[in-house]
Parts: sequence; structure tokens; C-alpha cells
Amino acid sequence: MTRDEDKKTHAEITEVDETDLPEGDVLVDVTYSTLNYKDGLAITGKGPVVRSFPMIPGVDFAGVVAESSHGDFKPGDEVILTGWGLGEERWGGYAERARVQGDWLVPLPKGMTLAQAMAVGTAGFTAMLCVMRLEELGLKPENGPVLVTGASGGVGSVAVRLLAGRGFQVSAMTGRVSESSYLNALGASEVIDRAPYGEPGKPLQKGVWAGAVDTVGGQILANVLASARQDGLVAACGLAASMDLPTTVAPFILRNITLAGVESVYTPRHLRLKAWENLARELDAEALERISHTVGLSEVIPAAEKILAGKVRGRLIVDIA
Ligand code: NDP
Repeated sequence: MTRDEDKKTHAEITEVDETDLPEGDVLVDVTYSTLNYKDGLAITGKGPVVRSFPMIPGVDFAGVVAESSHGDFKPGDEVILTGWGLGEERWGGYAERARVQGDWLVPLPKGMTLAQAMAVGTAGFTAMLCVMRLEELGLKPENGPVLVTGASGGVGSVAVRLLAGRGFQVSAMTGRVSESSYLNALGASEVIDRAPYGEPGKPLQKGVWAGAVDTVGGQILANVLASARQDGLVAACGLAASMDLPTTVAPFILRNITLAGVESVYTPRHLRLKAWENLARELDAEALERISHTVGLSEVIPAAEKILAGKVRGRLIVDIA
């Protein structure tokens, strides 16, 4: 639980009475949650993520329905919840039980375990939304190479795997070139050091990428836009480098570049179901194992600092049960 003490966020593991859980028509026994970048901001207080205190962080969870008065769910059903303000404005997944609205839940897709669903989690779900958005805008493997920034992180790792699985030639940009073999194993055909892309560049550069999934924002996204090919398609979902976007209109008016924003918290239900169906089909057990590792609840608070420092590789599953 996090509390606001003299305008500083204080996080601790504590007992909460079940009767204090918020209103909702489904009570879930949480099995796993995960650590996302946003959870790092919430736990450390380094970003204005939490809207009310005290807050149980955890923007996602997977678990088993314990009680339900919602028509679509009954006790014993395995379910997933990502977003809907969990861990920000509503109590989230870092608890043994969560009471939520059934309309926010999606059933665990066939062929996936609860742990695998959280190896995906909010970050992997967002990666799928980015890929679906780029394809909806017309991106095809024959258009040319696709770049993923922040490639060793949660969204990035899953995006690399999904794009490679769909037949794209993937360039993985990272600050950790030491993770090249990890990124190659996920399907990246090229690993690019991010360092030069963090420096201001020309408004238009050599057109290289037909598409990109950007998880970092800032100067890197500006350089990605400037080095996209004619008609290039860029999905922006993150700010791990910066909230700023120091770009010009040149890529848009001279190369017909599209910059598409991707937001995963309030994604409508039909898109969620489609995304999870795709994720269950496209991510095999080996890939999910490669991408994720598991920590206990007691390890989440120190791990929050690590994820903000860009030191977590792939996805962190949090074992709650
Ligand atoms: P991670 O921390 O797992 O991944 C972020 C990666 O970005 C890091 O691993 C690192 O990759 C890179 N990075 C970190 N710091 C910097 C820096 N200062 N400059 C450049 N690159 C950096 O986070 P997630 O994958 O969970 O989330 C990624 C981003 O996406 C976050 O900003 C998050 O808030 C956002 N997000 C947005 C969602 C939405 O709904 N729009 C949903 C989920 C996430 P490497 O070492 O390989 O360079």
C-alpha cells in the first residue's frame, strides 16, 4: 500500500481488511500481478500516477473469481484485468484480493495460464495494441524494417517478439547492447545502440524505417520520426526517456509520416478481447519464459527503483498467492 506522508510517497506491505475493498460486482483471488513502468512511478512517487491515497498499486492482475454478481463471471473463472485506473485511482493488483467491476475483466484466453497472462501483462497488451494499430494503418512486412525503441523493456520485448512473429524485419533499439543475444533470440534481426538517437538531429534524416513502436518519447522519438521512410507509421505509447517531443512538422508534411498514439487503460472491451486472443495465439511458452521472471510481493518495492532506472529486462511477474 502507498500513502502520502508530507507530500512524499511511502510504500509498505500491510494488512488490509477485506471490508475496506472498494465497491464492485466481482471479488477476485489475485494470483499474479506485474511490475510495469507506471507501477514504478506509483510506488516511488516519482511520477504523478496515483490520484488518491492510500492506494494499493498494481495496474494489472490475473486471478480466480471468488464471488460474483456479474452475469458473465462465476466463482472459479480465471480472469485478467489491465488498466481501468487500477493502481492509479482504484485499488490495484498488489493484494491477495481485489473487488472490481466485472465489465473490466476479460476471461483468461484459452491456451494461456494465469502466470503467462501476467508475463504479458499491461506492457505486453500495450505492445499488441501498437502492432494492431500499425497494421490497421497499413503496415506490412514488405513495406520495410520496423523499429522498436526501449526494446529490452516490457513493452519493447513483447513488441519485438510479436512483430518478428508476424514476419516483420525488426530493428531493436536499446541502451543495453549487452542484451543483443536476448533481443536476437526474440526475433530482432538488428540491434541498434540508442545513444546517438538521444542527441538532437536534423528534422529530416535518411528514411530507414517503414514503421516503429516507440516506448520512450523525447529526442529518440523525434529522431525516429525524422528517419522514418515515406508513408512511415509510428505508434507512440511511452515516455521512458521523456514526456517531451522536440520534433518539427517536416516528417509529417514532407514524408507523409503518421504518428499514432496508443493508450491501453480505457481500451474498449471488443479490442481487449481481440488483443488477448492474438496474444494467446502468437506468444508461445518459450517466448514468455524468455521475456519474464517472477518475484514475490516483498521484492516489488526495490524493483520499482530498478524499472525506473531502465534496469529490468523484459517483464516482471509478481507472485501474490
Ligand atoms: P520498462 O522499464 O520495462 O521499459 C522501458 C525501456 O525503455 C527500458 O527497459 C529501456 O530499454 C528504455 N529506457 C529506459 N530509460 C530510458 C531513457 N532514459 N532513455 C531512453 N530509453 C530508456 O517499461 P514498460 O515496458 O513497462 O513501459 C515502457 C513505456 O511505455 C513507459 O513509459 C510506460 O509508461 C509506457 N506504457 C504506456 C502504456 C499506455 O497505455 N500508453 C501502457 C504500458 C506502458 P533499453 O535498455 O532496451 O533501451
